[in-house]
Amino acid sequence: MATRTNLIEELKKNFGFDTFKGNQEAIIRNLLDGKDTFVLMPTGGGKSLCYQLPSLLLDGTAIVISPLIALMKNQVDAMRNFSEEDGVAHFINSSLNKAAIDQVKDDIMAGRTKLLYVAPESLTKEENIEFLKQVKISFYAVDEAHCISEWGHDFRPEYRRIRPIINEIGSHPLIALTATATPKVQHDIQKNLGMIDAEVFKSSFNRPNLYYEVRPKTQNIDRDIIKYIKSQSGKSGIIYCLSRKKVEELAETLKVNGINALPYHAGMDSTTRTQNQDAFLLEKVDVIVATIAFGMGIDKPDVRFVIHYDIPKSLEGYYQETGRAGRDGGEGQCITFYMNKDLQKLEKFMQGKPIAEQEIGKQLLLETAAYAESSVCRRKLLLHYFGEEYGEENCGNCDNCLNPKKQVEAQDLLCAV
Ligand code: ADP
Ligand code: MG
Repeated sequence: MATRTNLIEELKKNFGFDTFKGNQEAIIRNLLDGKDTFVLMPTGGGKSLCYQLPSLLLDGTAIVISPLIALMKNQVDAMRNFSEEDGVAHFINSSLNKAAIDQVKDDIMAGRTKLLYVAPESLTKEENIEFLKQVKISFYAVDEAHCISEWGHDFRPEYRRIRPIINEIGSHPLIALTATATPKVQHDIQKNLGMIDAEVFKSSFNRPNLYYEVRPKTQNIDRDIIKYIKSQSGKSGIIYCLSRKKVEELAETLKVNGINALPYHAGMDSTTRTQNQDAFLLEKVDVIVATIAFGMGIDKPDVRFVIHYDIPKSLEGYYQETGRAGRDGGEGQCITFYMNKDLQKLEKFMQGKPIAEQEIGKQLLLETAAYAESSVCRRKLLLHYFGEEYGEENCGNCDNCLNPKKQVEAQDLLCAV
């Protein structure tokens, strides 16, 4: 087993980094000891490395369950960049043809593959389960583990089948990772994955470099946004809108007003979508106007602002989306436009869904509205939501701290949280 010093050596040799970030090292040691491990770490904290490095050090192949096909390919490419062996990382998802899958299986059976990414819908396929039964597995990693919980912002029913399938394939140590840290979601994950006794590694979710502000949403919102972006000349930013239609409209309005912007939503054809995403990553455009389909796994370090045109459906979602600002530790302004009427619009969207889902949706929405309407430090409220107490009286980097409203009002609201 790797000792303290040579774990750093392995990090350097395989990934080119000099030090671990946050509690990566403790997490990796726990997993290398064969223990179930639960990681709560904000977006950009470096969760992938917590399973990538151990996979290289242990015998066999680590199975990584991850929900997004685009993300998977990125991660596999990144791993291959670091390694001389092309087969070191692979993925199995619905985008592969038969020949490609055979190649993957050959590499795995020959012991060349340390890391296999599997989409949840591929994991549930009988032929893949049969195949995985023959594989020497080092451990399982469940990335974006909040997908297992209805209280998370991205519930995926197939995630509920992970534990039974693991039992069928064969039990090995399990690491679950997420950036969604509400106590409810955490409990759901541990229960559903059968890892109540896992060692839990929770990082602070505070992002001191992010500035939070909620502005009233008026008829002049487009003008307000244009003015804001012009004051940020040349900086990169993301604007989230609820509907695809609004995404298209706003991108057009911005363009007409001389702002270099492109739209992104799941209804666009995939070529245009990729082009627009790449244009943003390569800094050919400053602003991307998008639905929440944009951003998971996007690692652009210098996004300087994230604007919410509409109130997000939950504070988890809000935190994920705003979390894409300032990943390099530099400035990141998170500005949300809020009007009470938007709540009704969102509730309407939920109609037709199963009652239980509507109830959860409403609850999450109410919490978001309470945040938007509060005059308490935004950072304190957000961290409280994630089960973390923020000790400072004044964070110095949100609208409510920089421009405090009446104290009495603030006290009242804090009691209501
Ligand atoms: P998360 O999944 O937690 O959002 P990622 O795993 O995508 O985060 O990592 C975010 C960024 O941090 C990536 O660019 C990654 O290469 C980088 N990173 C991870 N670990 C380290 C480290 N020990 N030193 C420097 N950079 C790191
Ligand atoms: Mg990740």
